[in-house]
Amino acid sequence: MARIVMKFGGTSMAGTERIRRVANIVRRQAAPKPDGTRDEVAVVVSAMAGETDRLVNFAREANPLYDPAEYDVVVASGEQVTSGLLALTLQGMGMKARSWLGWQLPVRTIEAHAKARVEAIDAEGLLAAMGEGQIAVIPGFQGVSDEGRITTMGRGGSDTSAVAVAAAIGADRCDIYTDVDGVYTTDPRIVAKARKLKAVTHEEMLELASVGAKVLQTRSVSLAMKSGVRVQVLSSFTDGDGPSADDLPGTLIVSEVEMTALEEKLDMERQLVTGIAHDKTEAKVILTRVPDKPGAVAHIFGPLAAASINVDMIIQNVGRDKGETDVTFTVPQADLPRAQALLEEHRGEIGFNRIITDSQIAKISVVGVGMKSHAGVAADMFAALAERGINIQAITTSEIKISVLIDEDETELAVRVLHTAYGLDAEDEAA
Ligand code: ADP
Ligand code: ASP
Ligand code: MG
Repeated sequence: MARIVMKFGGTSMAGTERIRRVANIVRRQAAPKPDGTRDEVAVVVSAMAGETDRLVNFAREANPLYDPAEYDVVVASGEQVTSGLLALTLQGMGMKARSWLGWQLPVRTIEAHAKARVEAIDAEGLLAAMGEGQIAVIPGFQGVSDEGRITTMGRGGSDTSAVAVAAAIGADRCDIYTDVDGVYTTDPRIVAKARKLKAVTHEEMLELASVGAKVLQTRSVSLAMKSGVRVQVLSSFTDGDGPSADDLPGTLIVSEVEMTALEEKLDMERQLVTGIAHDKTEAKVILTRVPDKPGAVAHIFGPLAAASINVDMIIQNVGRDKGETDVTFTVPQADLPRAQALLEEHRGEIGFNRIITDSQIAKISVVGVGMKSHAGVAADMFAALAERGINIQAITTSEIKISVLIDEDETELAVRVLHTAYGLDAEDEAA
């Protein structure tokens, strides 16, 4: 017997037919094994594809500077619908199943609405029910705060719900079913030559996810790393007689030690760059003519931090005459109206002249642990982009990642060019 968490994303849950397909995959996992034992199964579900976007728009239309607590009440509803529908479908197939909403388990989170973090999951009732052969269906994305209010965990948060449930019940594996059959060297919807990876290290997946590879939510990866949950990414769009999830047909997210062992076993050679990601969800803000003196940037970023607005790239230009400088930074597009309002509110202390904003930007990042020990990865990136006339507006780096900010219209071209430049194209492997 194993204890398995299965998570199904929005595309997999989009409509009655697809939910039926999901129910069949669950039935297969829960069926008796050749040795007569059965797995205990918990299922975490997303809202139907497009539903959360629809709900977010309603919240924005109602009030562009929305109260995050009420936003959560609205957007958490999509998962309530799909969890009920899957439980109904499983029951219709003769299985024992019930839904467990975030407040019922409960999934306790911190108060930070719209970006809550899981603090604890009370798994006792869940384990008892699963032990009796009941399939637990849990809406992802949602939890409950200490105040008893509904919270949500940020876009893509059902991945994190699934890993958190897996950690709480001591699951043997957390299978993340989605609309692609694993993690690729880059988004396979953009680069046809992207290659599926058999395994990715936590460290690299964490970086890839945080710079836009939305196949897994960043926090789900850090939680898996911290709690030791074994995660596999695989497709829900397979026919019933394909390989079983237990045969690990997808991509495993593994520790560095496991990766080294796998490389030896499968005779794989690690590339300098593991993957490339893009992110079109940020916006650029330029504050012109900020006083070039100690404390100036603190006045800008203090209020944004207090409002939980994440600032990503920052460039403070060289001071010009009259002791003034321009400060450029990026924030999530979704937070741009709030950021602008806050900056206007603090215009007096900050002392800037104008706010210029631009949402037509994209961040392209290359990630690989190989960079730690090799120089020249950044230079290759800049050269490859320059050759295609792609202008770089900002750069940031970490130990295993380089990101550049470019014009949004050039996103696909930049990703393809870099994928080829780093030798990641599928053809190379066959060669
Ligand atoms: P779900 O609704 O199942 O959570 P998501 O849309 O959140 O699915 O994530 C799956 C999508 O992630 C894929 O359809 C793919 O376009 C995108 N994606 C981005 N980068 C990658 C990558 N490196 N490997 C695989 N998929 C990726
Ligand atoms: N439905 C939520 C979203 O679209 C959570 C998820 O799907 O993971 O962001
Ligand atoms: Mg997702």
